[in-house]
Amino acid sequence: MASPLPSRFGDLPLLIGGHAVPSQSDQWLPVHSPLDQRLLARVPCATGDEVELAIQSAAEAQRSWSQVPAPERARVMMRFAHLLKEHHDELAELLAQETGKTLADAKGDVWRGIEVVEQASGVASQMMGETLGNVARGVDGHSWMQPLGVCAGITPFNFPAMIPLWMFPLAIACGNGFVLKPSEQDPLTPMRLAELFKEAGAPDGILSVIHGKGEQVDRLLTHPLIKAVSFVGSARVGAHVYRTATQHLKRAQCFVGAKNHMVILPDANKSQVLSNLVGAGVGAAGQRCMAISVAVFVGAARDWIPELAEAFRAVRPGPWNDEGAAYGPLISQGAKARVAGLIEAGVREGAECLVDGRSVEVPGYPEGNWMGPTLFRGVTTEMGLYREEIFGPVLACMEVESLEQAIALINANPYGNGTSLFTGSGAAARHFRHEVAVGQVGINVPIPVPLPFFSFTGWRGSFYGDLHAYGKQAVRFYTETKTVTERWFDDESAVGPNLTITLR
Ligand code: NAD
Repeated sequence: MASPLPSRFGDLPLLIGGHAVPSQSDQWLPVHSPLDQRLLARVPCATGDEVELAIQSAAEAQRSWSQVPAPERARVMMRFAHLLKEHHDELAELLAQETGKTLADAKGDVWRGIEVVEQASGVASQMMGETLGNVARGVDGHSWMQPLGVCAGITPFNFPAMIPLWMFPLAIACGNGFVLKPSEQDPLTPMRLAELFKEAGAPDGILSVIHGKGEQVDRLLTHPLIKAVSFVGSARVGAHVYRTATQHLKRAQCFVGAKNHMVILPDANKSQVLSNLVGAGVGAAGQRCMAISVAVFVGAARDWIPELAEAFRAVRPGPWNDEGAAYGPLISQGAKARVAGLIEAGVREGAECLVDGRSVEVPGYPEGNWMGPTLFRGVTTEMGLYREEIFGPVLACMEVESLEQAIALINANPYGNGTSLFTGSGAAARHFRHEVAVGQVGINVPIPVPLPFFSFTGWRGSFYGDLHAYGKQAVRFYTETKTVTERWFDDESAVGPNLTITLR
């Protein structure tokens, strides 16, 4: 269906069989610029037949791709990483326009993704199995890792380059086909990634991209050819994805919501604490799963809160190409209304709002989804501000008397994605990293970002599944282990008189 709407990027196609395929859907979703609500593009909600075709074409491509030697598959990833670097700035600009992220932040999003593709280029050694000679007399044992078939990935809006790149390069490097369903809120960057992947020499069909929302995702989750599902997004949707995928006997890994606490001891470096709290609290408008949304001040460290409020007042949001802007707009008008509602509830529930960002204005962009930096103190665990993942530039300050109390607070929170401690004491740091029940821990580092040679390891309510993303765990997630026990007879009678073996 041709677009009747004026738009910058037009109606997005699906990617099926290695080709951009116009959708026949009669349901389309608008992609608006978060800066001024301009219509950037429209995405189709793929029809059932289109999703089927996307899966079938990935399955067909996978049959021959799985026979391609691992070092050759790795070479495609090397070329892909090279192309991503060549197009880094172009990708970052595209990403900045559709998400509203500042250019520096958008570049970081692309770069973090490139690192994962580089890691996927080493797939040959990562897929090596184990051997043990002589497991019994004359018998050897060995295991190898083989691809699963077709895997699916469902990604959120907040990292439209990095998160798709967590998934499809490594899954495909392992010999799988892949169907990606990117966020309908910023699908332009993932489509560009898919184009570059094809240019890098990925065979037609090995990566399909479909668009849509719940209905299209459910088709993936219930399809017999989809063997594994990687999901990143909200806790509500992630729980549905995990339940549905596992009910259909698929393996699933779902990376979901967060409520990350940063603990500040009075012996920490104050200026580091203040600048890192601002960056980790409001950077990317708080729309990061690793954003710090709760600052826990221990003892006399609470005296720094007024200075933190000053630092919050000194930063402002702005458009992506404004170098002085600390961060951009929220992704949608709906997100802005939701964050404003949580701030209002916080005030109503009795928290003290030291800096209120609701009335912020950005000259030239009256329609943008702006939210100014917002800082609360006196927040308690019963308040919505504490219980909900806000996903906005809002930081809640809490005060406790000891490190033990801070750890108990963190461990009682349903989420366990990331946390951090600022201190000058090695002993306190060691105690914290042993006792805290959270997957990603930073010591004097506010956002312990995921790095591809480690695994990204959210815990508790922030993750459903067992094998995480990145590193060895991701390779295990995207492969099946085969264990072979092997014996060869060395007496001629075992071969038989009429059997000859020709070696080529
Ligand atoms: P979301 O859950 O709204 O959407 C994620 C994906 O699910 C999108 O592709 C969307 O189209 C799809 N979806 C939406 N409704 C669905 C439904 N009913 N059934 C099936 N699929 C559906 O999340 P979002 O708003 O795009 O992203 C923000 C969330 O992602 C935050 O909660 C954030 O913490 C989380 N996140 C987590 C991590 C992590 O590593 N833990 C990383 C990034 C983002």
